[in-house]
Amino acid sequence: MSTVSDDLLGATIQFLEELKARGVRTVRVSPETLAGFATPAPRIQVVQPAPFVPHVPPAASQPAQGVRREAPILNGDARVQAIADLHARVMGCVKCAHLVSSRTTVVFGVGNINAELMFVGEAPGADEDRQGEPFVGAAGQLLTKMIQAMGLTRESVYIANILKCRPDTPGQAYGNRKPTPEEMQTCIPWLQEQIDIIRPKVLVGLGATAIEGLLGKTAGIMRLRGQWHTYRDIPLMPTYHPAFLLRNQAVGEKRKVWEDLLQVMERLSLPISEKQRAYFLKG
Ligand code: URA
Repeated sequence: MSTVSDDLLGATIQFLEELKARGVRTVRVSPETLAGFATPAPRIQVVQPAPFVPHVPPAASQPAQGVRREAPILNGDARVQAIADLHARVMGCVKCAHLVSSRTTVVFGVGNINAELMFVGEAPGADEDRQGEPFVGAAGQLLTKMIQAMGLTRESVYIANILKCRPDTPGQAYGNRKPTPEEMQTCIPWLQEQIDIIRPKVLVGLGATAIEGLLGKTAGIMRLRGQWHTYRDIPLMPTYHPAFLLRNQAVGEKRKVWEDLLQVMERLSLPISEKQRAYFLKG
């Protein structure tokens, strides 16, 4: 049986290899992280909630949901360092005992940490839990196509979820379930740190649960999509989850998502061809 320390070590090695492949030659490790390595990790069954140690010094009072506390702008090596540090802490997270015991691995996030565009989904599914990367299943393949239709690549953006562990489905051999409000509340500080480090120019929230997690709004994605909102001072565009488009093949629904993404492209001053403007228009 794997332990939290196995998870952490494997994920850290993988992450460091990715950094090495990108030419990074040195990574500093904070005293908190070093202390974490020196402490024997609990086995999966014995769950000791670890205190959440934010990378960024907290403001005097707790900010309202989605309001960014003062976080320093990090660039270059400092940003690489901060993400490596956060990655190490997230991979060893044991805040939700039931998810610690059901997960294969923590799904941190993937992509360019200097990205101008960041997608936020709901939670890992079975494929993501197995592979340790968000949006690699059927919905993920559609998301990759959507990104490519924008003239971008999956590697040029950043992709993360509200929940870093797959919601467990006790008694079921397969299937997904929506994260509970408690799970979202517990996990979202990790995403907030990710966003504060990456500082994308635009966020895209994929589906009702992502928007509920980010904005605390359950008004319904149908009403919220297509309108700009703000999360941690960053423009946020809610749109439908790609899994919804897989279930609902109507061209009109695809067009709605595409119109949301056109707004994102405009906001980022990305070039838009006539052909792109006309995607999913009839006639
Ligand atoms: N759906 C999500 O919301 N996130 C994933 O990572 C995969 C599917």
